[in-house]
Amino acid sequence: MKKHLSSLLIISCFLTCPILAQVPQPNLSATVTTTKVVIKDPKLIALPNIKLVDDKKYNQKLENDKKQYQSYKNELKDEQEQLYLMLDRILRANKLQYQNWRIGIKVDTEEVNAQAGSANLILINSSLYDSLYDNKDALAFVVAHELSHLILGHSQKSYENNYKIKRLQENIEYYKEQSRIQNNNATLNSALGNSYAATGDTLMGISYSTSMAVAHSQINKLYAQERQLEYEADTEAITLMTRAGFDPQKALDAMNFLSALPNVQTASSSHPSDSDRIDNIENEIQLVDIEELGKQGKSNIYDSEVLVARKSSDKKTVILSSQKNSYKNTYIPQTKEDKLMKKAYKYYLDNDYILAKTYFIQAYAINKTKNYLAPLYLSYILEYDYKNNNQDKKSLKQAMFWIKKAKRLKPEDKFVIKQTNDLKELILSAKLAKKADLSE
Ligand SMILES: [Zn+2]
Repeated sequence: MKKHLSSLLIISCFLTCPILAQVPQPNLSATVTTTKVVIKDPKLIALPNIKLVDDKKYNQKLENDKKQYQSYKNELKDEQEQLYLMLDRILRANKLQYQNWRIGIKVDTEEVNAQAGSANLILINSSLYDSLYDNKDALAFVVAHELSHLILGHSQKSYENNYKIKRLQENIEYYKEQSRIQNNNATLNSALGNSYAATGDTLMGISYSTSMAVAHSQINKLYAQERQLEYEADTEAITLMTRAGFDPQKALDAMNFLSALPNVQTASSSHPSDSDRIDNIENEIQLVDIEELGKQGKSNIYDSEVLVARKSSDKKTVILSSQKNSYKNTYIPQTKEDKLMKKAYKYYLDNDYILAKTYFIQAYAINKTKNYLAPLYLSYILEYDYKNNNQDKKSLKQAMFWIKKAKRLKPEDKFVIKQTNDLKELILSAKLAKKADLSE
């Protein structure tokens, strides 16, 4: 009996075990027999139900949409048409037609940038647009990033942060001025030989320099929050663009272009460093299910109508009109925990228990006070590992370790109770077996 295999080794044998190729669809009632071990799955983790669209029908729909797009062609300039088509696709794929959106190019600046403005406006500066216009996927990332700021309510947060920053900066100026006056007085008094010469530089018992330091640190905190919004917008943009059928890898083209531009990073920068943003985007691309999002987007586009385009009153931007009644006016982004759980569960269903374990552990680490499903499924994996690998006790111990965590979070759950009892039984029979061994 092999007893001292490392846990990594044990699980890696799942990949090559020939029996596993024929593991039937797991279900709750499945239990162990001496000949065949089946992993448990009470199907507690929901995967989205995606309606598949027939390719032929989908292409027909796109042809019909084209005719509709043609009817707006004459009204719009070439670049306006390109942005309109792009935003129409992103909005429909993500079911965001619940309000009017505006998009346009800002021409009176050389700054390479884009903005999300009030009243649902996405503005791309001409220098950025011109640099990316022939890389439609990279441009779609820029559009999706600004759209993300709007749907995640960042404009309001950012407005408040910037207001606070401005007030704090005004305070700092005031402290500086007061400190200067008091120093002058102190110097003057000292020259006159007054005994209270050294008492200056205080405001209600706190020195001006302390007040200034506090204000500076508050400002830096607010800037850190601003940078967080950028990561959130990048993260969501990857989902939005992928659903719309754009290549998320090309987001990196946009970022690499931006990172080649001169730019100084300090504690009071409102944007994270480009290399940190690139790392975050790369992680996100790994995390999203590109195939699933693509199917979802296709189905959403198939079920929706072309958004009516018209020029804004100043002719500078294009308005994409809402289809209010058929769409909810909120967008709920998937949390990182959701994404990790789904990814873990898909690997679980594919019998890839090493990766399933990795992602369940990561998901649990994010939300240790609520997520009982990750430890429950981890205990299934380790129990399966135990039964399937010559009763290695280390796995059984680990299975117990995880079910205890699940039990702490959801003691009344029937699946948690059942799994706890199953594991207790296994431990008991392992002990009895050991006794029998010894008495021989
Ligand atoms: Zn941004």
